[in-house]
Formats: sequence, structure tokens, C-alpha cells
Amino acid sequence: MLDCKYSSIRTHVAKQLDRELEGQEVTLAGWVGKRRDHGGLIFIDLRDRTGIVQLTFDPEIGSAFALAEAVRPEWVVEVTGTVRLRPEDAVNPHIPTGEIEVIVSQLSVLNISKTPPFEIEDGIDTDDAVRMKWRFLDIRRPEVSKILKLRSRVTAAFRNSLSDKGFIEVETPILTKSTPEGARDFIVPARQNPGKFYALPQSPQLFKQLTMIGGLERYFQIARCFRDEDLRADRQPEFTQVDLEMSFVTQDDVMNLTEDVLAEVMKVVDYDLPQPLRRITYAEAMNTYGCDRPDTRFDLLLQDISDWASTTSFKVFAQAPSNGGVVKAICAKGAGDWSRSKYDALNKKAIDAGAAGLAWMAFPTDAAGADDIVAQIKSPIAKFFTAEELEALKANTGAEAGDALFFAACERDLANEVLGIIRLELADMLEIPREGFDPLWVVDFPLFMRDEEGDRWAANHHPFTRPFDEHLGNIEKDPASVLSYSYDLILNGYEIGGGTLRIHDADLQLRVLAQLGHELEQAREEFGFLLDALSYGAPPHGGIALGLDRLIMILAGRDSIRDVIAFPKTSSGADLMTEAPSEVTLKQLKETHLRIA
Ligand code: ASP
Repeated sequence: MLDCKYSSIRTHVAKQLDRELEGQEVTLAGWVGKRRDHGGLIFIDLRDRTGIVQLTFDPEIGSAFALAEAVRPEWVVEVTGTVRLRPEDAVNPHIPTGEIEVIVSQLSVLNISKTPPFEIEDGIDTDDAVRMKWRFLDIRRPEVSKILKLRSRVTAAFRNSLSDKGFIEVETPILTKSTPEGARDFIVPARQNPGKFYALPQSPQLFKQLTMIGGLERYFQIARCFRDEDLRADRQPEFTQVDLEMSFVTQDDVMNLTEDVLAEVMKVVDYDLPQPLRRITYAEAMNTYGCDRPDTRFDLLLQDISDWASTTSFKVFAQAPSNGGVVKAICAKGAGDWSRSKYDALNKKAIDAGAAGLAWMAFPTDAAGADDIVAQIKSPIAKFFTAEELEALKANTGAEAGDALFFAACERDLANEVLGIIRLELADMLEIPREGFDPLWVVDFPLFMRDEEGDRWAANHHPFTRPFDEHLGNIEKDPASVLSYSYDLILNGYEIGGGTLRIHDADLQLRVLAQLGHELEQAREEFGFLLDALSYGAPPHGGIALGLDRLIMILAGRDSIRDVIAFPKTSSGADLMTEAPSEVTLKQLKETHLRIA
């Protein structure tokens, strides 16, 4: 809203001022930005929430000039003056108010300011830690506040869209019991119950399911979630989800609804969501991109060359498929003329990712040995193949002079994972342009995966996900083969949403929990309320949660979610401004029945 209805000490905000107002007297309020003294005049950029306007102080006009000489950056001022068109050579096409200036007759100082630790303007090169310590000043910078405004508009668009579609906004508890989403819980001591703790929710998962059993049929929440994990650029210990749940739905219903809502939300950035979005299965995503959240804006696809490999004379390749593994390759256009060190660097990445190594073949543009294909190829392994085998490989993979091939020969999952990592590295090294948005769904995830130590089954999404009806018989017999009604929304290599249909039958829930290692008694202890609820007429239901921070990050063209959170934390979970987390007093410890070990 661009008027001053609720800000009566001024008549206008910066953004309202244009050439139409020439000659009009206006009163403005804001912060002092840049100041220039010029040919007897003083120019000050006045900043308010809507933008910047140039104030001009002329010693001949009014009484403000002397005070204008005294004001300093970030002082808070109120000014009255007249709108004037700038002389042609002083027009600033880079700001919306660039055609005018305000000739100030009265200036009053509403508050003074110490000299800020960095310039309050865009494009500064200040250390992140300093900006975070002084985040309230950082937010004054237009490029920061612009993102918070975008975030507000996106959040409002979600709220409006879901409310219009009959979704009911429900607030679920923050002080609660553990909801397993695969991370560690933040815990809070319960003073009134010695030795007991609340957990902060990793997501509202169980509560939203309970609202379905409660008959609401359509729930949503802009929900804060808490996960105690080691942080990365796109993670924070607390983050926001647009969380929703629906009853009497199929997987397609939830996906269609999500697309419709997202299409409305993306209008905020003038993006037309191409509906329906492309859908690929988890198996396809892994086999083709080596990743379940593929960046599909470029190819570098994984090719299965097991058939070719099994007929070759190179043992490592020939034997991999017969041992139940695969041989896969990526053909990288333009990587054939690199220096050895680049191939070695990729080899190291592959080893770090768990492979025995990364075999490669480079086909230099100006290869020596015109008639001898083996001599033309730069590779530690080319010598193990016949000329015919190499010709067939080139034909199979589409490799030409100037290209390089990278291979993995091992068990399928490892080959996919390793080449998935190499694919992204190659895209960086080849500087493949990645522009625009390419959203898609990845569906049909396995219900279970081996946990990190590989000694038991863990839930791929969470333990409440519904297995395919036709796979119910395999839960105990062959857990790895069980697929689930599940769908992740992927945008440019980020998972921006994930959801599933849920188990709505207590017995099935117990079977899945048992497979995840929760024996009956433990399951009852941890999830008794859910099992009870599932026994009282739970409707079929499902939902999804979209990662609001990640989505805004992508829409704002940033590469860290810290940039789109008003008061973010560092990678060690600290808030540099408030200095949280901090110690508590002995009294607080005593009251909460705690002792520091
Ligand atoms: N609770 C899930 C999550 O946080 C989302 C869902 O299944 O709706 O990822």
C-alpha cells in the first residue's frame, strides 16, 4: 500500500513521487543515505521502505541547510519541501524517482545514528558474519529488504490460493513429541515434569494426519520445522514449510492441487508454470541423472553400456554386468581436450563418493595417429580394448572428437550415485549455462532404504507413507522391492517439496513400523496416539510439504537459504546478533532439573 494513511507524520512515501507532483509540497520521513556537497548545494538520498528520493538543500531556501550540513548517514529525518523536475543532465534512470528531486525547506532530526559498520547500500563486499551481527542494518539495504518483500508476497499467495480452495489453516504445537523425519530432534526440558522433554517438531506430519482423522479434509499451515542436522547452504536448523494434507484423494489429486497452487504462486515472479509438470519415476531419475532431485536444465545423461561392456576384452568392464553390476558412462561434449589434471580431479571426486575410481577416455580434437583409434584416445584404459570395441563404444555413446567419456563399473546404485556427482561436476567444469526454471515431479520412491550404517531398514520419506497396494505382500519378504505412493517436486536440482499418501490402517502401520525396527511395544509407546487414531475411522489421506525457504531462494536467484530468512543462523547454528545459543543460569538449570556434564 503506497499511501500514508497509517503514517500521518508524512504526506508521501518515496515511491509515490514522480513528475506528476511537480510543484507540490510534500512531507517525507526516512533514513539519510548518501550525501553529496556540490556547488553550494547539499544532496541527500532519503530512504524509506519504498525506495530512495533525492533531497536538495539550497542555502537560499528555508532554514534547513545548516542542519543538512550536520546530518550523518542513517540519521532518521523528517523533511518538508517541494517536488521539482531535475535538470535533464541530472536525471537518474536507475531509480523510479530519478526524474525529480525535493527542494527541502524544513528538516527535523527524529533520531541520530552511530556510524554503521558497513555502507547501507546494495552490492557491498562485507563479510557475512559482520552483516549477520548487524542484521537489522543489513535489512535496511534494498537488496535484502526486497527479498523479504518477495517472501511475504509468495507466502500470501500460498495462503490465498489454499484458502480459496477450501483449506483450513491450523496451527499445530511447537512443544511436542518427536516426529521422525530422519533428523535429530531439538529438545526442550519440561520444568513441570522432571526428567522429561518436549521435542520441537521436525514437521507437523502426525498432527496434520490427525486433522484428517478429525474430519477437516483439507488442512494447511505455513509451518516452522526444526531439525538438528549439520548445516549446508540450503539448510537451516529452523525452516518453513507450506504444509498441506487432504482426505479422499489419489496421488494425482495431491500433485494436481500442488501444481495449481504453485502456478498461482509463481505468478508473483511472472512465471507461467507449464502444467501438467513432467513426471519421472525415482528409478528413471536415478538411472538417467544419478540423482533423485536432478537438475534437468542440462543433459550429460548417464548411459547404460553394460551390453557393450560384457562383450569386451577389458575384464573390469566385461565382468561387472555378470556380477550383477552395470557399466555406465557419461559422454561430456567438449571435455576431450582437457589437461590430465582435470581428469584426475574427477577421479578423486569419484573415489570420495565411494567408487574404486573413475575410468575415462578423452578423444582430443587434433588426435595424432590418424588411422589408429587406440593411439588417438587419451586414456589409462584404452589400451585394453580392440579398435572395433572402441569404434562400437563411440557409436553407442555418441562420443566424437573433442568429447570425453567417464565410466563407472560396479553395482548399479553406486554407479548411479557416483556418476550423478560427476555429472554435476562436469556441468560446472564445462560451464554449461543453467538458466530459467525446469520443474518436474519424481514419483514412486522405494518405501524403505538401507540406513546409513546399512544394517537396518529406514523410511525413505517417513514411516507413515503408504506402500503400493500391489506390494503389500512384500513388506517383510522383500522390503527393497516395495514402492510407495510418493512424489517429490524438483526445481533446478533442488527438492522443493515432498509428499506421500499415508497409511490409514493401524495394522498396516504396525507392519511398516515393525519393519523399521519398532517392535510392537515400542511402536505403541512412541506412536500410540496415531495408532489409536487410525483405529477410529481414518479416511484415506495424503499431502505434501513445500520448502518455502528453498523456493524463495530459487525465485530470488540466490544460492543460500540464509539470504531469504530474516534472521538466519550460521552453519554452526549460531545467531550472531542475539548470540543464541547461550548459557543459562544455574537457577534455570535447577528449575529444569538439568546438570551440565
Ligand atoms: N512431512 C513431510 C516432510 O516434512 C512432508 C509430507 O509428507 O507431507 O518432508
